Amino acid sequence: MAKKKVVAVYAGSFDPPTLGHLNIVTRSAQVFDQVIMAVAESTSKRYVFSTEERVKLWEKILPTNLKNVVVDTFSGLLVDYAEKKGAKILLRGLRNLTDFEYEISMAQTNRTMKPEVEILLMMTDGCYSHLSSSLIKEIVYLGGSVKGMVPPAVERELKKRIGPNSGKSK
Ligand code: ADP
Repeated sequence: MAKKKVVAVYAGSFDPPTLGHLNIVTRSAQVFDQVIMAVAESTSKRYVFSTEERVKLWEKILPTNLKNVVVDTFSGLLVDYAEKKGAKILLRGLRNLTDFEYEISMAQTNRTMKPEVEILLMMTDGCYSHLSSSLIKEIVYLGGSVKGMVPPAVERELKKRIGPNSGKSK
């Protein structure tokens, strides 16, 4: 019998994608047959970048050799989206104990709703464990550099959108 493809969904707001997110995608692409980057569609939550812009950012920064990674968008329950995509795994990135506590309850809730789905947590490499999209936006808003925290293309777009010379607020 042919082995079934192991598909993992890595979902998030990614507003914007950081080097921490990129670390998880790059490593998970070595582990799973396919990784679906699922960008949360804009709803009531206020994002700096629209859904389409966040997808475009991913397409710009994903290394071209990651042939088994695709970018998509989702709304509604993540477990339903995973099922629709034939993915058995929900992948989450883990930075610290605060993430862990939140992820544990999310995982248990998702498993209660859909026991067929497995939730796997991948620890970020230590040098990215301090990075968060919100902190990065704060730095750019206040005129600081986020070099080494996001890819250069993301930094450029952030500065244009919310930097001190953008004329806009976060
Ligand atoms: P959400 O709105 O779901 O929290 P995020 O875009 O902040 O979306 O994060 C998406 C996923 O990436 C989550 O699993 C989160 O824990 C993980 N993540 C966030 N920052 C990092 C980082 N620096 N290193 C590794 N994983 C991260």
